[in-house]
Amino acid sequence: MQYPEPIAKLIDSYMKLPGIGSKTATRLAFYTIDMPKEDVGDFAKSLMAAKNDLHYCSICGNITEDDPCDICRDKNRDQSTIIVVEQPKDVMALEKMNDYHGLYHVLHGVLSPMEGLGPDDINIKSLILRLQKTPVKEVIVATNATPEGEATAMYISRLIKPAGIRVTRLAHGLSVGSDIEYADEMTLLKAVEGRQEM
Ligand SMILES: [Zn+2]
Repeated sequence: MQYPEPIAKLIDSYMKLPGIGSKTATRLAFYTIDMPKEDVGDFAKSLMAAKNDLHYCSICGNITEDDPCDICRDKNRDQSTIIVVEQPKDVMALEKMNDYHGLYHVLHGVLSPMEGLGPDDINIKSLILRLQKTPVKEVIVATNATPEGEATAMYISRLIKPAGIRVTRLAHGLSVGSDIEYADEMTLLKAVEGRQEM
């Protein structure tokens, strides 16, 4: 039996989300149909708003409603330190520590020869330009402890160290392969405090 087109389309849409197979997508689609119309309307609106109202900060690459983002605009933050992360959600995780008051740079990925991702495919060039324009003393590379994350950290370190900038790497109380976004605040705090020279 074929599903009526509107529900088949909804199932297709859910299946585009990561980690959602046809079974879950079907369950979500039928659940959506049973939701109050107002809730579905709010859901649709927040999907569009997230897409339309959020941009990438032109300085650090984080997601933001305003450009530059709140963190880049905040002159009370330590302008001499930048933590480099893979994704905007890593910034959120590190901000939860409430203990880091420097700046960030979001790469939007890692170098991955397997997936054909080179230096031009992630936000590295803008980091280099930024370092040329601002007096940064230390860059803390906080890519994840995956082979790609490590390779990306090495690449960045080789690029910026010659400029006389201190480059450090988060200490890995974070176990190998674990993601920053899932680490608790205490673990992150220890990882930042115990960071090591690259
Ligand atoms: Zn920013």
